[in-house]
Amino acid sequence: MIQVKNLSKHYPDKIALDDISLDFPAEETTAIVGPSGSGKSTLLQALNLLERPNSGLLTIDDLHLDLANPLTNNQILQIRQKTAMVFQEKALFTHLTVLKNLTEGPIKVQKKSKAAAEKKAQELLEQFGMTELKNRYPYQLSGGQQQRVAILRALAMEPKYLLLDEPTSALDPELEAQVLRVLKDLAQKNTSMIIVTHNMSFAEQVADQIVFIDNGSVGYQGPTDGFFHSTETRIKKFLGAMS
Ligand code: ATP
Ligand code: MG
Repeated sequence: MIQVKNLSKHYPDKIALDDISLDFPAEETTAIVGPSGSGKSTLLQALNLLERPNSGLLTIDDLHLDLANPLTNNQILQIRQKTAMVFQEKALFTHLTVLKNLTEGPIKVQKKSKAAAEKKAQELLEQFGMTELKNRYPYQLSGGQQQRVAILRALAMEPKYLLLDEPTSALDPELEAQVLRVLKDLAQKNTSMIIVTHNMSFAEQVADQIVFIDNGSVGYQGPTDGFFHSTETRIKKFLGAMS
């Protein structure tokens, strides 16, 4: 489980996260939703310390960090080994083939052997029906294919938690559907995922729990059903505006 307690992130002119406490259970999918500028990306990035909060406690499994104190490189490394982030703008290595994109991190960062890294990459490609793309370069792929490779590249690192920030917002509806299918598949396999998304029907279908962030605070945390059937004015207004 990833847990944050009393997490705050202040910019000079903006409180992006205001005393947030949340649980993200392992083997479940959490969708983080909320208005633009409410703090969703800041929260997601705080979970693997791409964004450093000003204060709060961060727990990932048996690792407990007080974010008000300086962190050691080793602590940051441990967090990064448990988590992998997929961004909205796919960021593949343009000069490497699909296969090499999937093996680069495991070989260079995790010091896996080339054979072991390639075996894992081939398994992932097969699992997601993308084996025929393995020798292509990113420019030879569609946007949806690139984004699926970006997800597989994160999975190749075998993170316990997969963090995704609006993984489909740069895609047209058909390509979005391709990527969402991959994510649904992962959710069904009990991958531990935290996904920031504006796609409410996807969140409703896939998430085990919803976190609604509103103006830097938690407006809802709980079962997906409870969120979509909420009678709270603020949530109804948000969902009404999204549909
Ligand atoms: P969106 O749905 O548009 O991606 P979001 O919920 O992900 O929005 P964040 O990117 O987390 O929102 O931003 C939260 C708030 O913090 C916003 O008001 C934003 O303007 C502000 N913010 C983010 N980064 C900085 C920064 N480096 N300096 C100052 N303010 C920032
Ligand atoms: Mg964002």
